[in-house]
Amino acid sequence: MIRNAIVTGGTRGIGRAISIALKEKGCDVSATYAGNDEIAAQFKDETGIDVYKWDVGDYDACEAGVAEVEAMQGPTDILVNNAGIIRDAFFHKMTREQWRDVIRTDFDSVFYMTHQVYPGMRERGFGRIINISSVNGQKGQIGQVNYSAAKAGKIGFTRALAQEGARKGITVNVVAPGYIETDMVAKVDDKVLQSIVAQIPVGRLGKAEEIADCVAFLADDKAGFITGAVLTANGGQYIAA
Ligand code: NDP
Repeated sequence: MIRNAIVTGGTRGIGRAISIALKEKGCDVSATYAGNDEIAAQFKDETGIDVYKWDVGDYDACEAGVAEVEAMQGPTDILVNNAGIIRDAFFHKMTREQWRDVIRTDFDSVFYMTHQVYPGMRERGFGRIINISSVNGQKGQIGQVNYSAAKAGKIGFTRALAQEGARKGITVNVVAPGYIETDMVAKVDDKVLQSIVAQIPVGRLGKAEEIADCVAFLADDKAGFITGAVLTANGGQYIAA
């Protein structure tokens, strides 16, 4: 059976790899993005995956955007809440904007997007919701009070909704990546990055495709008994109970 998937932030980095992995599994995939039209157009040319632009931190935009996707693609079976940003600062220097930007993009969006597709999943008795958190949502990270809070929030959201959705065939899971080679990590100061890699037992950054494989696994029809889980993929950097 062909499953319809939406991947937020699906045109770049980890999201790009997820979009491609789901397409390779046989899904019909739509990828969303925020504003980088050139990269999105290039992604569409290279992969044949449809792209849609809206701000996942805006409820009305999510409502209109998902309606547009579903008019083209049909009802959504798989939602990957992947879009995210960082706005790092020590807490005593963190501005309201830095706090708000990260919370709305990385966390509010999870409610905004899931709210659009969840009722249909309940009616049809099938759904896969996969939320991309972070090792820093599990352990906390200096300079990232906003980001760590948002990513930890995704884990709580997942654990609660997993229990609500279970009897309707909807699984809700988290993938929590460690440091992955993407544009986001390229923004981290070189010295800081070197010290981070030194703390990763496998001795390297992860690859976007390694995270995409985790998502593809959880998105599978056969993964119906896995719900409320946090799948960590961080090279052993942080081993949670
Ligand atoms: P990138 O910065 O490479 O890509 C981010 C994607 O999200 C882009 O497609 C971007 O669109 C989109 N996006 C950003 N803001 C919005 C918005 N307001 N509305 C819609 N789309 C938006 O990020 P990564 O691939 O590195 O990260 C992907 C996810 O993985 C994030 O949630 C991140 O927190 C998480 N993660 C990443 C890690 C890493 O090491 N890279 C580690 C742990 C977690 P556009 O191209 O238009 O800007």
